[in-house]
Amino acid sequence: MTATRFLLLGPPGAGKGTQAALLIEKMAVPQISTGDMLREAVAAGTEIGQIAKTCMDRGELVSDEIVIGVARERLAKDDASKGFILDGFPRTVAQAAALDEMLSELGQKLELCVAIAVEEEPLVQRLLKRAEIEGRADDNEETIRNRMRVYRDQTEPLLDYYRGKGILAEVEGSGTVEDVAERIGKVLE
Ligand code: AMP
Repeated sequence: MTATRFLLLGPPGAGKGTQAALLIEKMAVPQISTGDMLREAVAAGTEIGQIAKTCMDRGELVSDEIVIGVARERLAKDDASKGFILDGFPRTVAQAAALDEMLSELGQKLELCVAIAVEEEPLVQRLLKRAEIEGRADDNEETIRNRMRVYRDQTEPLLDYYRGKGILAEVEGSGTVEDVAERIGKVLE
């Protein structure tokens, strides 16, 4: 059986968003990206957007309270009732625990954490290139290195969290987008 409730974990630039976008073409479930939702809130100038912007521009994490609220609201929507691909959430152990709780309230359970493993330096180069193309505010080298540090300190512990639950699947993130997509397809089966 193919997993329909899972998350993509990996350092910034590992290709979570790209892989999630490929997956939703084949699966009838939504991609849920807290990064995209926060950028929308910033663009719309909402209160959440205004608070989030400072953290995002620095490459810091937005507070658990805000992000958990955003994710909770999104996961409760109808289109997520049959499954979802989480992209960029959770990013802290507190968020992961909150996710378990909110899914349990919805009568659901996370099936798999797909962790994309990539070396740091090629990622920094990839992010610098992407920043040039997309013109993101969190795009200079200092911010990018900070995002890597934040990933290592706050998000990497999630590997152990999900390993402990027996739902961690590690996927090698090198090679082409298609190579990685194929590896992810295999672990979802
Ligand atoms: P992303 O597009 O997923 O790389 O997210 C861009 C930025 O949004 C991150 O650098 C954080 O500042 C913020 N963000 C997105 N998702 C989260 C999250 N789950 N927890 C905290 N901050 C987040």
